[in-house]
Amino acid sequence: MLDYHLHLWPHDRRATPVHLDQLALYCEKAAAAGVQELAVTEHLFRFRQAESLLGGFWDDDRIPPALQVSMAEYWDFHATADLDEYVACALEAKEAGLPIVIGLEVDYYPGRMDDVTRLLGPYPFDVLLGSVHWLGAWRFDDVDVPLQMDEWSTREVDACWEAYPRAGSSGMAAELSSAGWRKPVGEQYPALPLLERFVARGVPLTTASDAHRQEQVADRAAGLREILDAAGVESLQGYRNRVPHTVALGSPLQPESEGA
Ligand SMILES: [Zn+2]
Ligand SMILES: [Zn+2]
Repeated sequence: MLDYHLHLWPHDRRATPVHLDQLALYCEKAAAAGVQELAVTEHLFRFRQAESLLGGFWDDDRIPPALQVSMAEYWDFHATADLDEYVACALEAKEAGLPIVIGLEVDYYPGRMDDVTRLLGPYPFDVLLGSVHWLGAWRFDDVDVPLQMDEWSTREVDACWEAYPRAGSSGMAAELSSAGWRKPVGEQYPALPLLERFVARGVPLTTASDAHRQEQVADRAAGLREILDAAGVESLQGYRNRVPHTVALGSPLQPESEGA
């Protein structure tokens, strides 16, 4: 099993310098849950380099100004860490023999992805996660912020889906995540019917917790494993230097290895 989606800082905390100790503790927690390899995948928008490159993208969107202000504040709070330090620490962990690969979670920035590619190209990333947390300046899944949730009542769900960027090319894997068990939906992502379609089409998979703190690392790995077994999945996909390879699922996990 893998945990290929891990953050270093919760969203309600400013980024603090990252140390090898934190990554070592993540590895310990994962190993105890039967997870062999971790990818640290902090959000790109946590880093000052992202703010210099992308800051202000929210002004492109014709949207209620309150949402633009909210996004500007969100970035101001979040984009404080140094990407070079983050990558250096992950590299140090990897070179020290910890089962860690270097990643980043990268949102979709319409019209600006060439800039993102130029920023990230020189870094030694093993894996990049593509994600969509907002449409324009609207943070549609920020469930703790009423301003963001109220926006749903002004839009048609189908139109939101139409506006949602679609990804799909060979070499990309889909992620089976336990994070949904910690959210109002109360189930893994993706839902079973979609997972079954991925499996039927031979789309490779990673597994992940989307932890934002140490206690969540490898959260409910045994639950994810049950779902994989039931779906007939026999291997996962890992990455080195952005090149995929097959990873055996390993021996069955004990239910008590599930997190809180
Ligand atoms: Zn996050
Ligand atoms: Zn994430």
